Amino acid sequence: MDADQLRRYLEFYQDLGVQTLYRQPRSAPAAPIATPLPHVPPLPEAPPDPLPSLAPANDSLFQILEDIGDCRRCRLHEGRSKIVFGVGNENSPVVFVGEGPGADEDAQGIPFVGRAGQLLTQMIEGTAQKEGIPLKRDEIYICNVVKCRPPGNRTPEPDEMEICGQFLYRQLSAIQPKAICALGGTAARALTGHKEGVTKMRGKWFQWRDLPVMVTYHPSYLLRPYNQSAKREAWEDLKKLLHFVYD
Ligand code: URA
Repeated sequence: MDADQLRRYLEFYQDLGVQTLYRQPRSAPAAPIATPLPHVPPLPEAPPDPLPSLAPANDSLFQILEDIGDCRRCRLHEGRSKIVFGVGNENSPVVFVGEGPGADEDAQGIPFVGRAGQLLTQMIEGTAQKEGIPLKRDEIYICNVVKCRPPGNRTPEPDEMEICGQFLYRQLSAIQPKAICALGGTAARALTGHKEGVTKMRGKWFQWRDLPVMVTYHPSYLLRPYNQSAKREAWEDLKKLLHFVYD
């Protein structure tokens, strides 16, 4: 295993909340072989170790929803009306990830149905139409980092993101999209681990495991009157994303 693979393994276990690792004692070195080995043709280069799975074999959105159940794993369950799991096409080539449900989403159990959701729909369908890509919102998949509404729409706490993140990661692993779009800083941090602000990260490609992640502004940010110039940038980001996915 090379240093990069080792780092990815350690990050994987860190994502699962593992804080301590124990090393197995080294086994005794093999005794030298007295007789010379016959000539063996060199082995083809070994394929890189696959990333350890984050999900049970044959995982599906249905199974993940079942496993979430009537979730009480973190304090967010206390104030929620409905768990907001995700919506859309299980085979979508692109997944949009927001932060967490707001009031409208909490009431309906569907992500991005309030004002921010309407803007997101316009952004996706409007950009697609302008770029000649026939695409409707219900053809893609949309979900959030946390599935229950944080009180007063506050930013989810790190432990809430960590607990709920396992379900987001399973959703992404089950869908295996061609690319992911992180909407805003919380989704960008959860998926990429980078801590810079969205202004620095937007419009650039990052990676979640093997999948490309495009970071852009959260639609709620774009709704604020003093952030109108960011709208044009968000449109540029979506253009880049949609061409990558659908060209
Ligand atoms: N904001 C989000 O991040 N997600 C939603 O579902 C709605 C608003």
